Amino acid sequence: MIELKCEGHTAEYELTNVVNLFVPYINDSYKLEVCYRDETAQVRLCLNQSVVITNRQQVQESRNEVVQKKNLKETLKRMVYEVLSELTGRHMPWGILTGIRPTKIVHDFLRQGLKEEAIARLLKKDYKISDDKIRLMIEVAKRELDVLSQNKKDEMSIYIGIPFCPTRCVYCSFTAYSLEKKADRVDHYLEALCKEIDYVAEAKKGLPIRSLYIGGGTPTSLNEAQLLKLLSHIKVRFDLSAIEEYTVEAGRPDTITKEKLIIMKQMNVNRISINPQTMNQKTLDVIGRQHTAEDIRKIFSLAREAGHHNINMDMIVGLPNESVYDVENTLIELSKLNPENITVHTMAVKRASRLKEEQGEYQLTEAESIEQMLGLCQKHIGAMGLRPYYMYRQKNMLGNFENVGYARPGKECIYNIEIMEEKESIIALGAGAITKVVYQNGERIDRIANVKSLEDYISRIDEMIERKKQGFEKYQ
Ligand code: SF4
Repeated sequence: MIELKCEGHTAEYELTNVVNLFVPYINDSYKLEVCYRDETAQVRLCLNQSVVITNRQQVQESRNEVVQKKNLKETLKRMVYEVLSELTGRHMPWGILTGIRPTKIVHDFLRQGLKEEAIARLLKKDYKISDDKIRLMIEVAKRELDVLSQNKKDEMSIYIGIPFCPTRCVYCSFTAYSLEKKADRVDHYLEALCKEIDYVAEAKKGLPIRSLYIGGGTPTSLNEAQLLKLLSHIKVRFDLSAIEEYTVEAGRPDTITKEKLIIMKQMNVNRISINPQTMNQKTLDVIGRQHTAEDIRKIFSLAREAGHHNINMDMIVGLPNESVYDVENTLIELSKLNPENITVHTMAVKRASRLKEEQGEYQLTEAESIEQMLGLCQKHIGAMGLRPYYMYRQKNMLGNFENVGYARPGKECIYNIEIMEEKESIIALGAGAITKVVYQNGERIDRIANVKSLEDYISRIDEMIERKKQGFEKYQ
């Protein structure tokens, strides 16, 4: 345990995040004093009133108050990291970096004209990031830039949320309603959604759409008639003639049928996801999925037969009770299917999930095993010819690692990159959807949020449209 005591600065929140990285490796009760006075920062780690490790540094001065504050916070984070790293003998893969978009830093450095070697040196020195993660960051940032450099003026992407799933997965924290309880609300939801689609299509008429993403929940929870109704409505309302990417996150195989695959193909959907998360039956049972590994194989081959040639498969490392061998088995099974995209998520124990509530009942994976599992993913997925093209991090991820999307060259998901790097507007529709209006290549971003609750969205759809209307007018 570590008791943190701060004096002369406002970095307590950031320092707590750094301390939390090391907590699993500390057995005794330490006191950590972090103080800033007379341009000098000092960190003292004490055990039973005795100082065990100290770190003292001058802080680089700046006349700009914002820059000065940032410098001080970064310096204190580094100093605390160094002290705790010395105490535990551990280095964290992402060093002191706690943000969710690591590649943004690389983009900034590239914009400043820095070469790769200089960027790598800075990431190591200032952020304490490991060589492996630095390589990954730079590789991903360069691929993202290839896609982002093709953004056109006034172009946007569209997100449409379908917040229904057959049942709720144990680790889920999304806006997702179990169909067992809410099946009778689906038609009402679609009615409201179509109204919002009508408004956006009219308000943004004539502007180019680069990508359209239907996510959730699980959009294929809709039955065939509902799916056809939604996709037809989108086709009629939006001009999709020049769209580069149209994704439906089919997601759970227990919701996908041959007919739905054909409908999606006929409606010009050119990217789908079939998400196994794991190919191990014992884990599928534990996490609350109602399908088998064999179902995944069957649905995948049906999708190929229906003409889908850009398929993503999501997997999660660190699922309850899974070993390194289980993850390797999933990778071997996925490589037999040979999808164009694989997205590897590291398990995160999120506040709103059942997993968080019932944490004691599951055996969670240690950081060392996660590292091994991610290494295996890199190896197997790399051997399939897929390369990392986008990444992000979340709070409460096991071992403080990352999520990485891999794709065959030319099959990188445009929407994933746009949402992560925030260089063009994403108009988001549906319950819980948050529109981001982006200006000056991401220098300024305004958000327009829809209500999260299904019932509120249905009953207050006119208000959601009004919010968008006011937001679009205000931010023009
Ligand atoms: S399929 Fe996805 S959205 Fe649906 S319950 Fe599972 S994790 Fe949540």
